[in-house]
Amino acid sequence: MSVLVVGGAGYIGSHAVHQLLDQGKQPVVVDNLLTGHRESLPKGAVFYEGDVRDREFMRNVFKRKRIRQVMMFAAHSLVGESVKKPLQYYDNNVFGTQVLLETMIEAGVRDIVFSSTAAVYGEPEEVPITEAAPTAPKSPYGETKLAMEKMMKWCEKAHGLRYISLRYFNVAGARPGGLIGEDHNPETHLVPIILEAALGKREGITVLGEDYPTPDGTCIRDYIHVEDLIAAHLQALHYLKKGGPSDIFNLGSSEGFSVKEMIEAARDVTGKDIPVHSGERRAGDPARLIASSEKAKKVLGWEPKRTDIHTTIKDAWNWHSKNPQGYGGRLI
Ligand code: UDP
Repeated sequence: MSVLVVGGAGYIGSHAVHQLLDQGKQPVVVDNLLTGHRESLPKGAVFYEGDVRDREFMRNVFKRKRIRQVMMFAAHSLVGESVKKPLQYYDNNVFGTQVLLETMIEAGVRDIVFSSTAAVYGEPEEVPITEAAPTAPKSPYGETKLAMEKMMKWCEKAHGLRYISLRYFNVAGARPGGLIGEDHNPETHLVPIILEAALGKREGITVLGEDYPTPDGTCIRDYIHVEDLIAAHLQALHYLKKGGPSDIFNLGSSEGFSVKEMIEAARDVTGKDIPVHSGERRAGDPARLIASSEKAKKVLGWEPKRTDIHTTIKDAWNWHSKNPQGYGGRLI
């Protein structure tokens, strides 16, 4: 029996594929390689190149392999871009999930672990944010993820689907060893941008807004190590397999760091000078996002192991310094 990993060649999905193999499970990867990298996939993974929105393609995957459970990572995931291109986000994210659920239900596959986001909360009324907080996305990205969660809820009632939706806060870091890591083009995420500046690949980092209502004026985020994040996914698969009910969990470290604090931590880890510039706010960015992850700890038994910002940045730095050009055609 296999686990289908949709979007398994992306940054987060590829970490799931490696951890599934570590645990002796058989990952079957679907990815359209629009932003994913074939080189991130280990030899033991079965790979089908194609788009989740392509019904016939997805039907064939379910026909060819005996899939037991699904992990869904495939989505556009940039807040700023989503504000500029909302329809692209609805098409890829909402319609993509619709086709996945249709083909899962047709194939009689019931369990899905889904990658959701803190962006569903919008500008939170209180931090830390619990799963009971109101949802009020500030961007099409957050709206589409919320719509995807609701689609699964209704499919549970109508078709017996069972889902665990994991609302990620800010994911960073890399698998220790430096074989896989974050490689986006263009890169928009804070940690890789800071590290590219440390490597001299870019001139510096622009802080996007210094007039937020936070102690140093820069946005506060909750950074979670990608390896800990994926460990929660594997626990969620296990939980569903044992008959646990559908549910939603936040995944974060429960600690917040400002953009300026992250730059300082990266200077400590890398020993490099990192030039900083002031920039305008980015559309759709809330001032402060910090998770309460108590529910995931209590219900799934999850315990983050590498999630302090120095370890997270150190593991990311290991990847970036060993692979300054990212995957760049490399085969592993
Ligand atoms: N950020 C920044 N400069 C950059 C990229 C990001 O100041 O070049 C800030 C951004 O405004 C946000 C935080 O860093 O407050 C994290 O942004 P990222 O894009 O990594 O994740 P997001 O919070 O959008 O999921």
